Amino acid sequence: MKRIALVGGAGRMGQSLAENLNLIEGMVVSALVDVREPEHSFGATYYSCLTNVDAQSIDVVVDFSQPDSVVASAKWSAAHHVGLVIGTTGLTVGQRAEVESAASSTRIIMASNFSLGAVLSERFAALAAPYFERVEIVELHHDRKVDAPSGTSLTTAERVRAARAAAGRVTPLEPTQRYTIEGARGADAGDGVRIHSVRLPGLVAHQEILLGGPGEGLTIRHDSYDRVSFVQGVAIAVMNIDATPGFTWGIDSFIA
Ligand code: NAD
Repeated sequence: MKRIALVGGAGRMGQSLAENLNLIEGMVVSALVDVREPEHSFGATYYSCLTNVDAQSIDVVVDFSQPDSVVASAKWSAAHHVGLVIGTTGLTVGQRAEVESAASSTRIIMASNFSLGAVLSERFAALAAPYFERVEIVELHHDRKVDAPSGTSLTTAERVRAARAAAGRVTPLEPTQRYTIEGARGADAGDGVRIHSVRLPGLVAHQEILLGGPGEGLTIRHDSYDRVSFVQGVAIAVMNIDATPGFTWGIDSFIA
């Protein structure tokens, strides 16, 4: 039985994970860690800080909180040799480096998207990217998301860029020369792969990868309608963490 401590346990993701991971055989959420008290405990004990949790009482830490606390979770995980699964996005380059450095004495799996459909859509995009002239990404999220662009869109852009570079595909020069409103073409994530961020109430997490070539287009779209879409991927990471030393980015390698 994997006993899980959930950092950010009072948050939107934390509450959904606490409810749904408990339904999966072989795992139980035993600690909810958050600076504020959760609305529902789902049978877990509440802690205001991970340092108050007895390391012997849990097997895995799952962190869906905010970037500062991820670094603290990584240090705690390294000090106690407890595996850590990170879903929190928006880390700075420095924070990401601290997390990776902590992983040298523990096991950390970090992913910008734990939904299986999103992971597969990234794989499909990388497969298609070398065959089209241009690739642009539109990511759409709820209006309380604090970081932009989304971590998923950055990962997708990176995979698309790597696939195009490996195939020797060079994106034609940006055609726009005059901007009536600055920023209308979104942000260049490198090599002409542009990201456009939409924030609207009612959305959860959605992404379209648009690929264009002479006379044709291909759109790969993924929709997370509910936070439960991330549960299966988190469970896969929790089940694999003991056999995965050091730092692992993404859950793609765990999906055949
Ligand atoms: P949220 O604001 O609802 O929840 C965050 C929680 O973290 C809050 O309850 C807050 O009190 C808590 N928190 C803040 N500082 C803390 C600290 N020092 N220690 C412990 N808890 C602390 O946000 P959310 O919608 O649940 O999203 C959380 C994170 O998960 C975000 O970074 C989001 O982008 C990310 N996310 C990732 C995925 C993925 O698949 N990787 C999916 C959805 C959301």
